[in-house]
Amino acid sequence: MAMDRRVFLVLLLAGCADTSPQGPLTAISPPPSPAPKPQTPVAPAPTPQTPVPAGELAFDTWMQDFRGRALAAGLSPALLDRELSGVIPDPKVISLDSRQPEFSKPVGDYIRGVISDDRVAIGRNKREQLPFLPPIEAQYGVPRDILLAVWAMESAFGQLQGNFDVVRSMVSLAADGRRRAWAEGELIAALKIIDSGEVTRAQLKGSWAGAMGQTQFIPSSYRATAVDFDGDGRRDIWGSDADALASAANLLAHGGWKRNVGWAKEVILPPGFDYSVTEGPREIPAWWEARGVRRADGLPWTAQDAASPAMLILPAGAAGPAFLALPNHFAIRTYNNSTSYALGIGLLADRFAGGGPLVTPWPVETPLSMSDRMAAQIALARVGFNPGPADGVIGAGTRRALRAWQQSQQLPADGYLSNDMVARLKAQAGITP
Ligand code: CA
Repeated sequence: MAMDRRVFLVLLLAGCADTSPQGPLTAISPPPSPAPKPQTPVAPAPTPQTPVPAGELAFDTWMQDFRGRALAAGLSPALLDRELSGVIPDPKVISLDSRQPEFSKPVGDYIRGVISDDRVAIGRNKREQLPFLPPIEAQYGVPRDILLAVWAMESAFGQLQGNFDVVRSMVSLAADGRRRAWAEGELIAALKIIDSGEVTRAQLKGSWAGAMGQTQFIPSSYRATAVDFDGDGRRDIWGSDADALASAANLLAHGGWKRNVGWAKEVILPPGFDYSVTEGPREIPAWWEARGVRRADGLPWTAQDAASPAMLILPAGAAGPAFLALPNHFAIRTYNNSTSYALGIGLLADRFAGGGPLVTPWPVETPLSMSDRMAAQIALARVGFNPGPADGVIGAGTRRALRAWQQSQQLPADGYLSNDMVARLKAQAGITP
C-alpha cells in the first residue's frame, strides 16, 4: 500500500510482529485487525411500524454517518447519491474477511507453493521478451525480476485480478466495522478515483478485499503511486502490463527500494552459533562474517551490499535456511508486511534471474494447529516468559519470549515454534496434550 515515510516506519516496527506464514496473504493487504471491534451503537428506533432487522438498521446508521465523513472529505452529494444508493453489504466479503484458518502453513510449504516450475518458466520467458522491462528498471531502480515476481504472486501475471466491485467490498468491510477506519479510507479513495473520471465504477474491479488490477493495489495506493508508463494518458493497472509493472516499481521505490542493493542472501551459520541474534542487530556483512557467518553460494558481497545493514532471519528456525536480510527485504514488505511474502518475492526473483534452489532445503513440517499455538503461548507465560496475548499469532513478541525460554533451556535460541518446542513447553508448564 502506498504510504508515506512515517507510516512506513511504523509498519516496519509493526512488521517485526508480522505473522508466521499463514498462506498467501492478500497483496497490499488491509492491516490485520486487532480485537473484534465493538458494534456500532445503534440508537433505539422510535417504535417502528414494521420491525426492521437490527443488521439493516446498523447498516443504515453507518451509511448515514459515513456520508457525513465522505462529504467532509470533499466528495459531492451527487457522487455519493449515484455511487452509494442501493449498495448493500456483500455477505461473501464478510465471510471471507472473518476466515480463521485453523492451521498455519509452514513457511517451507508456502515457499514451495510460490516457486513452481511453471511459474519460474513463465517468468524467465517474460524477462527476455517484454520490451518495457528495461526502461522501467532504469527509471525506478527496481530489478525486473522483482517486478515479475510481484506480478506472478499478485495476479498470476495478470490472469487473476478479481472481479469484485471495489466500492461494494469497501462498503461491506466498513459497515462490518472490524477495521472500519481503514475500509472507510479506502472507500473514500475508490470514490475519488471514480470522481476523477480516470476509471469508471464498472472498471473499478478487484479482489474481495479491494486489491485491484494486475498488481493488486488498494485504492489509496492507486491514487498515490500508480503511473501511466505506456503513455496513453491513463494509469491502467488492469489492462496495461507496462502501467501495472511500472506502478509496482514506483510503489517499491516509495517504500524505500535501494538501487543496486540486494534483498537477502542465504547464509551458512557456524557450529555452535548463538541463535539469539536472530531478528536482532542490523549490521554490515563483515560484522556477520567476523562471527563465522558466510554466504551459502560462496560468492563475494558486492560493494553496495557490503556497506548495507543486514538482519539475520531464520524463517523455519535453526533446521531451515538462514538469510541475511538486506534493506530491500524491508522495501518488499511495503507491499505486504510479511517475512514469508518478502521471501517468496525475493526467492522467486532470484530464480527468474537464473538462480538455483537454496543450499539448505526447507524442513518438512506438520502445520501447527491454532490450539497448539495458543497452548505454547499460555505455557510460555506460565513458565515466566511473557509472550503477550495468547492469540495463536506467532509474532515478534512470542518469538522473543520463545528465544529467552530456549536460552534458559540451553536449546538453540532460534525463536521458532516447532512441534517439538510446543511439546516441550506444554510438558514444562503442565499442560496435558
Ligand atoms: Ca497507460
